[in-house]
Amino acid sequence: MKQSVKLIAGNWKMNGLGASLVEVEALRAALAADRPDCRVALCPPATLIERMARLAGAGIEIGGQDCRAETHGAFTGDVSAAMLRDAGATLVILGHSERRQGHGETDAMVASRAEAARAAGLEPIVCIGETLEQREAGRAVEVVRSQIMGSLTRALADGAFAVAYEPVWAIGTGLTPTLTQIEEVHRAVRAAMIERLGLGVAATPILYGGSVKPDNAAEILAVAEVGGALVGGASLKAADFLGIIRGA
Ligand code: PEP
Repeated sequence: MKQSVKLIAGNWKMNGLGASLVEVEALRAALAADRPDCRVALCPPATLIERMARLAGAGIEIGGQDCRAETHGAFTGDVSAAMLRDAGATLVILGHSERRQGHGETDAMVASRAEAARAAGLEPIVCIGETLEQREAGRAVEVVRSQIMGSLTRALADGAFAVAYEPVWAIGTGLTPTLTQIEEVHRAVRAAMIERLGLGVAATPILYGGSVKPDNAAEILAVAEVGGALVGGASLKAADFLGIIRGA
């Protein structure tokens, strides 16, 4: 089955002030001058979504980094999917390992957030990935399969979403799996997605995330079943992020 166009998404995490928007201006100008063959997205902290969405133009999609399943209410500090949409986001990262580990987010919570995101008109990017301990125990495929089964809800089957395979031990460490390991897990993720949601997800993008840089992006993005990249540190500077986009 033909893969959909690749998605290169930047996760700014808790980085960025108003002054950082110069990087978005630089990125927009570069992409306008030389249009990429892939989709480009940036997921800034919630405080920057509206300003970034206004600045980004059509060539850069904007996403949130999490949302609650509830539409509104007494949840101090949290944002709803509708709030992200209202601020100008069209995507949302869900179940990032920093939230699974640091905020106790479970597969069931990710699933209900993904449904809420979809209901609000957002495209969820559902993150999965094994820890180093799990990989060393030979359990990487088993772990991501279980996360797919628990985090993907049937409500996703007939609309746009993406999965991001991010080995926890590769995030922010400079370490990456071998290309063979990436392909093995991506194939297993695809099989689990189809088992869970049917053949309609045979071309849904499966992004790779974890220490993607300009110098390794092209080879990772050429691996079978890699439908894009989720990029942390190297998405903060336009020049680095562009180096990755040009590898797609
Ligand atoms: C991430 O946090 O999603 C990520 C992939 O980070 P980095 O690219 O910095 O490893």
